[in-house]
Amino acid sequence: MSGMNFQYWHPEKEKIDRAKLGAWQLASLKKTLGGALRTDFYGRRLAEAGIVDAEDVKSLDDLRRIPFTTKHDLRAAFPYGMLAVGKDEVLRLHASSGTTGVPTTIYFNRNDIASWTALVARSIFSTGCDRRDVFQNMITYGLFTGGLGFHYGAEEVGMLVIPSGSGNTPRQFRIMQDYGTTVVHATPSFLLHVESRMREEGVRRDSIRLKRAFAGAEPYSEDTRRRIEELLHIDVFNSYGLSELNGPGDALECQCKNGMHLWEDAFLAEVIDPDTLEPLPEGETGELVLTTLCREAMPVLRYRTRDITAFYTEPCPCGRVHRRIRRIKGRSDDMLIVNGVNIFPSQVEEVVMGIKEAGNNYLIVVEKEGFMDRLTVKTEVGAKIFKDDDARVLNALRENIRRTLQTAITVNPRIELVESNSLPVSEGKAKRVLDKRPKDV
Ligand code: AMP
Ligand code: ZN
Repeated sequence: MSGMNFQYWHPEKEKIDRAKLGAWQLASLKKTLGGALRTDFYGRRLAEAGIVDAEDVKSLDDLRRIPFTTKHDLRAAFPYGMLAVGKDEVLRLHASSGTTGVPTTIYFNRNDIASWTALVARSIFSTGCDRRDVFQNMITYGLFTGGLGFHYGAEEVGMLVIPSGSGNTPRQFRIMQDYGTTVVHATPSFLLHVESRMREEGVRRDSIRLKRAFAGAEPYSEDTRRRIEELLHIDVFNSYGLSELNGPGDALECQCKNGMHLWEDAFLAEVIDPDTLEPLPEGETGELVLTTLCREAMPVLRYRTRDITAFYTEPCPCGRVHRRIRRIKGRSDDMLIVNGVNIFPSQVEEVVMGIKEAGNNYLIVVEKEGFMDRLTVKTEVGAKIFKDDDARVLNALRENIRRTLQTAITVNPRIELVESNSLPVSEGKAKRVLDKRPKDV
């Protein structure tokens, strides 16, 4: 790390004195509460907790008096129950990936877009990138925050931004070669896939100028990072975010690549025990809980991210005072992340149970195929259909389940039809998911 030249996008904010940061946080929390109290959802929720005025919160310790917010709450308040401003003030919405029925939707006004963009710009700059870089955003654009979030931040830094989106690997190489891409953003699994396709297609490393990658949207291990770095000869920076709290730019590794700075002038962070819901001492591992400090259209208070992590206790050599979180260890709920898309087993269940020819038992299998995730749903079918042995009937059923499920979860599943009573039945809680992906976090 010696010899590193640390540069700051917002030096006054990134190296702010911690006491000043605390004062800023308290003032911002009160402002946020003021907005939240105007919403249907928080107006009621906060009143139940005895908070009817922003001034009821006197110190940062009073944060504990504020009730938690969950994904369920966001869905229950759909579509506009959490809006703190008039709809005419809203500029954009994003929604969490892969959800059926009621999506978790987040709204941004002009100031929210600006503050989010500034956070992403600050994060990108902290990795050593600057306006001379050519940035290829190899991630899904659309409702997913990773596309436009990074796009705006990279433009703010002044990079040349190529909105390539994800997929179509051969085209991605061509773009890299044609425009001299120096930095990409992708899921770690897509980066591994890109590398193996490069080798297959004989793309020479010296024909591309890639130096760095931001990798996130799904969990991965330190070994995976090292592998991508060694194979592609680049630096990989872990990028963490969730749409409920903007998305990218929540936390990103700086040049030191040792934990992700969580921007504490924009979010109040806690780590709690997911069982007792009590805050844990600094440095202990638990569930990350975040409160927005500068979101106007849709403030979110004490959001339970379900992501398991811990704070580093020692300061970062880069000089930024914002605390770093460790690589996400897993989740405290049963959400699966398949190629970056969030899927709850209950979504699969809803589809399978909604198709009357499908039997009573099913099993979700997730494995690695090459470097990408592959989702298979094994579904039992009634003995009668199976015995008829009519391949056409079975094929039609398989295709029906596949299509309905793909619409619901946005990932293309493989469907395997199996005979009734052939899947394991557990005595206790049904085990619906077999995750065969290597766990080396
Ligand atoms: P979404 O709301 O679709 O942006 O998904 C957010 C979720 O993706 C987070 O709550 C995490 O569980 C997961 N996630 C995002 N980035 C990372 C990362 N760098 N490491 C591990 N998990 C991540
Ligand atoms: Zn740092």
